Amino acid sequence: MSENSPQSSRAGKERISPPEQRQPEPGLDQKLQPTADHGERSYQGRDRLAGKRALITGGDSGIGAAVAIAFAREGADVALAYLPSEEPDAQAIAAVLDDAGIDVHRLPGDLRDHGYRDSLVDEASAALGGLDILVNNAGKQISVESLEELSDEQVEATFDVNIFAMFALSRAALKVLPEGGSIINTTSIQAFDPSDHLMDYAATKGAISNFTKSLASQAAKRGIRVNAVAPGPIWTPLQPSDGQPIEALPEFGHDTWLGRAGQPVEVAPAYVFLASDDASYVVGSTVHVNGGKNQP
Ligand code: NAD
Ligand code: MG
Repeated sequence: MSENSPQSSRAGKERISPPEQRQPEPGLDQKLQPTADHGERSYQGRDRLAGKRALITGGDSGIGAAVAIAFAREGADVALAYLPSEEPDAQAIAAVLDDAGIDVHRLPGDLRDHGYRDSLVDEASAALGGLDILVNNAGKQISVESLEELSDEQVEATFDVNIFAMFALSRAALKVLPEGGSIINTTSIQAFDPSDHLMDYAATKGAISNFTKSLASQAAKRGIRVNAVAPGPIWTPLQPSDGQPIEALPEFGHDTWLGRAGQPVEVAPAYVFLASDDASYVVGSTVHVNGGKNQP
């Protein structure tokens, strides 16, 4: 097999071909086959977030869990928000974070519940003794083949979790973040190159990218930086819990220029950079982490 063969390991990570599998939404990381890499054994911090306090939505699994591990090893205290049914994943990640010797708080709840989402930022701030970083990362993605089969209920639920909650959390964050604080939104390659079976999801990601710019402009006047990360295909529980057609899973991510899906640990450094003082002049930007795909 040649060095550049699509079968070979690329950029130090293996190309995976997950077996067909399905989990009820939201999926659990603990049931993913193969398991995903969140950096549990590999991520090494360099105190880039020492003393900072972060709230990460969807911090139990996938990209959010990798961000939580990276932030903790960079010295940040973290609060994880996630759905109550994801408690097993949240506890497993919290145990990894405990080893970093930082403060970890678990704040489960449903972001569709206005009582929960309107108080989450204040709860996190109270638990952490203040808040410096909000990572808006929770997301819902359900693949539906045609617009005729896409229900209004699904469209509303996807917009509610992915973008409406982001307005509420960001509004609350502006009240507590200090000058030098940071908000990082998770958008997607889908904002720029939508798949037709992810029509509602891709539309929310377009909205998130747009919202990131207008919020960045407003918040910059207060010294708060707002940016986004746009992942490409990353192996997380979102995908086998109806995020992709089941038969597409073995080929997931094979259409990128690197020829493979990414692992959550490969996305986390973009969030670390944007949250850190290294990014002090980076505002309204999007970091693309997608293994190579057409992008703006
Ligand atoms: P994931 O399933 O691990 O994370 C999504 C999280 O969203 C869940 O863990 C859950 O805690 C949270 N969530 C969903 N519905 C919620 C609700 N009603 N209330 C509260 N929390 C809720 O999958 P992931 O892929 O790591 O997703 C994280 C973010 O990355 C999402 O915004 C997703 O759209 C985005 N993203 C993922 C990919 C990918 O290929 N995996 C690509 C681009 C963008
Ligand atoms: Mg999860």
